[in-house]
Amino acid sequence: MLDSTPKEVIVLLGPPGAGKGTVSVRLAGMIDAAHLSTGDLLRETAADANSESGREIAGLMAGGQLVPDGLMLRILVKTLSGLRESTVLLDGFPRTTRQAEMLERTLASSNGCVRAAVLLEVDEAVLVERLSGRLICGACGAVYHVETLKPRQAGVCDRCGGKLKRRADDAPETIRNRLEVYAEQTAPLIDWYRAKGQLVGINGMGEVDEIVSRVRDGLADWKAAGQGLREAPDP
Ligand code: AMP
Repeated sequence: MLDSTPKEVIVLLGPPGAGKGTVSVRLAGMIDAAHLSTGDLLRETAADANSESGREIAGLMAGGQLVPDGLMLRILVKTLSGLRESTVLLDGFPRTTRQAEMLERTLASSNGCVRAAVLLEVDEAVLVERLSGRLICGACGAVYHVETLKPRQAGVCDRCGGKLKRRADDAPETIRNRLEVYAEQTAPLIDWYRAKGQLVGINGMGEVDEIVSRVRDGLADWKAAGQGLREAPDP
């Protein structure tokens, strides 16, 4: 049960390295939406090595495995309830069909809904190249790349001055696991959202600014075509 104002959620779908985080942070600023990354939430929880769930989550993430659906949903609902924004860009959730069903029920309990699921489509070779060169800010979570998205000063975040580091799960072996987990457990969501008429496919390759514009325009065109609008109430 969601204890908050109704939320309209835009789900960001795509494999690890598709750019879900980078795109949603930028888009959130443009459309006055909140950005909520379940990976970031879990990294915060995992940082608490004194709690049992913190240790369990850290172990699963280190191996590229998914956190159990029930635990994930509890963490998500608590955070969603605390957001003031009515539009939320959800990055990294759902990752299983069961999570997608749980999300629908949870949003419906406060008259909210999923408005669209944006699928960022990226070739596998590009994914691996992006993940293996990725750097993140330990303080604010901003994402950089050693070749293609360098910070102004090496090792330092442009946005907050925090220290940049590699993610533990961006090691080559774990990248392979994460791509397999995506193919088996998350990719079925593409057809799931397509069947509901909620899928918006976007080419996720090229310059970041270009991709963000494509997503923004893709959502606007999709909405203008009459998709994703709520039924008008009877007069
Ligand atoms: P991300 O930052 O989205 O790449 O997520 C990093 C890791 O957090 C994943 O490899 C999973 O171990 C875990 N994770 C993130 N979101 C979820 C989710 N919705 N369900 C289960 N595990 C998740």
